Amino acid sequence: RDDLRGREPYGAPQLDVPYALNTNENPYPPSEALVKAIGEAVRDVAGSLNRYPDRDAVALRSDLAAFLNRDTPGAGLSWRQVWAANGSNEIIQQILQAFGGAGRTALGFEPSYSMHPIITSVSGTAWINAHRDEDFGLEAERAVAAVEEHRPDVVFLTSPNNPTGTALPFSTIEAVLSVTPGMVVVDEAYAEFRRAGVPSALTLLPRNPRLIVTRTMSKAFAMAGTRLGYLAADPAVIDALLLVRLPYHLSAVTQAVARTAMAHGAELLGSVDALRVARDDLVAWLRAEGHQVADSDANFVLFGRFADRRRVWQSMLDRGVLIREVGPPEWLRVSVGTPEEMAAFRTALKESL
Ligand code: PLP
Repeated sequence: RDDLRGREPYGAPQLDVPYALNTNENPYPPSEALVKAIGEAVRDVAGSLNRYPDRDAVALRSDLAAFLNRDTPGAGLSWRQVWAANGSNEIIQQILQAFGGAGRTALGFEPSYSMHPIITSVSGTAWINAHRDEDFGLEAERAVAAVEEHRPDVVFLTSPNNPTGTALPFSTIEAVLSVTPGMVVVDEAYAEFRRAGVPSALTLLPRNPRLIVTRTMSKAFAMAGTRLGYLAADPAVIDALLLVRLPYHLSAVTQAVARTAMAHGAELLGSVDALRVARDDLVAWLRAEGHQVADSDANFVLFGRFADRRRVWQSMLDRGVLIREVGPPEWLRVSVGTPEEMAAFRTALKESL
């Protein structure tokens, strides 16, 4: 394909370093009890791996619906309103295959998650780049103006946003829903980390058949290695996704591991409170040190501003701390880690300035 010539594959550094604070993973691995339960669940399916898995993943989707209903009282989801795939990146790919394509457009508000434009253009959909406000928020008026100007088939709203950490007010999401001719995707990969009082778009689902809310087990759920992303939407949206999914796209092992992880959900999500506190401490420390910091409702913090961020990034890496060069040119992003990792980050940053 001519349009792929000259591109680089996605390649955020995957380095063997003492302190990897660059991909917003949960720093706490599964407990011994969960490791044991996963081992048993995998052994249970191992005996029937000669068979294809349930291609509709009904048991997994039922568990996910129950989990979302506990997370967001009032969501009232059934398994038919939930769909799962190999990470939320594959969820986004399926959405674009079903609702984008040649002659169609998708709109996002930069700075935001870099895979949205990449997956969009790889799917043959034209990407339209609009912008967030100066403070990385997105007022309803600006969002509506962009949607009305471009009339996109798909709009991406990310809340809390990556790489800025900013959560969107309901007024923006509702305003975009009211004017978008196509689908509105609210990417909530970091939803579980949001501060008290910040609502989830899940509560808007019953009134909005063109809304898709995506989530992942890669972040709060500490299951990035499982590759399990999911969405909630109107059943008609899921019928459309069934037309583009590859049959048996979720292995029996993935389904079993994800269900076992959810059965231990309370224990896994126990780390979320600790990470929220660590995030707020990190924001306060960075501000006290004189840095500019974006408000964060996620498990990472965008901070700056550095005339030469590459030099700071490299100096941190030389000290064993891998953070991320992402977002506007003078900013850096750090994922929230364990107390030991945060101490190493603080020391390395001071030494690097
Ligand atoms: N959406 C956002 C906003 C993200 O930051 C990420 C990963 O960093 C993803 C989606 C993809 O997550 P995964 O494919 O691991 O579920």
